Amino acid sequence: MDNKKIAVVTGGSRGIGKEIAVKLAEEAYVIVNYNGSEEKAAQVVREIKDKGGNAEAVKCNVASFKECEKFIGDIVERFGKIDILVNNAGINKDGLILSMSEEDFDSVINTNLKGTFNCIKFVSKSMIKNRYGKIINISSISGVAGNPGQANYAASKAGIIGLTKSVAKELAKRNINVNAIAPGFIMTEMTDVLRDKVKENILSQIPLKRFGTPQDVAELAAFLASDKSSYITGQVINLDGGMIM
Ligand code: NDP
Repeated sequence: MDNKKIAVVTGGSRGIGKEIAVKLAEEAYVIVNYNGSEEKAAQVVREIKDKGGNAEAVKCNVASFKECEKFIGDIVERFGKIDILVNNAGINKDGLILSMSEEDFDSVINTNLKGTFNCIKFVSKSMIKNRYGKIINISSISGVAGNPGQANYAASKAGIIGLTKSVAKELAKRNINVNAIAPGFIMTEMTDVLRDKVKENILSQIPLKRFGTPQDVAELAAFLASDKSSYITGQVINLDGGMIM
């Protein structure tokens, strides 16, 4: 493991995060973060090991500043570095603005936006010291274009875009690349719950005429985590079958 890169994927127990963790494990030792799904995170680690990679699952609620400090601090102490951070953990609590509760607004902002801030904040010290880092933040086209019924979610994802660009400017001189991926409709548990009519309506707006897969996102994340993308920073890449052009 001596020369292996160390990668942290938040929310790596399911969906998009799981696929990113599995893909990055082809090149890196992966910390698969989870909050509630311990068994699923353990399953991801088993899958990675079955494929010849190496990984471990670590619990941390990214919305908690204190938990993130310990989560990231412990990894840096053990491995001496974190090369790659993928801020993927996210939730949605959709509703129209008139009916959206304060709790639903706060919890989505705290997990998606503040969680991303927390992890970047604690990882940046070690990346600056090592003069190396790749930070990939999972935003959403809802954050790029807005989406009715998702004021909280879209605000959190738009916030991630501002955070990405600001931190990219701060850390560029230390050889740290910070980029965001803005996926469109990706087939996971998060989108499974939508009614068929809603899915049909979304499909009609996708020029490439298919929903995205977690693998589509993982491929782009792996590219941004690699040195093949070393001249790209501060960018938001839409991965949406052409929905937004
Ligand atoms: P899922 O609901 O399938 O998975 C969400 C993941 O986030 C789980 O691993 C979950 O872990 C983790 N998570 C949630 N809250 C926390 C927390 N407080 N601390 C740590 N981990 C947490 O979602 P997707 O895979 O669909 O989405 C992944 C990311 O991609 C999200 O940021 C989402 O907003 C974004 N995205 C998804 C799109 C889609 O169409 N699916 C489109 C655009 C963006 P656990 O179960 O252990 O709590």
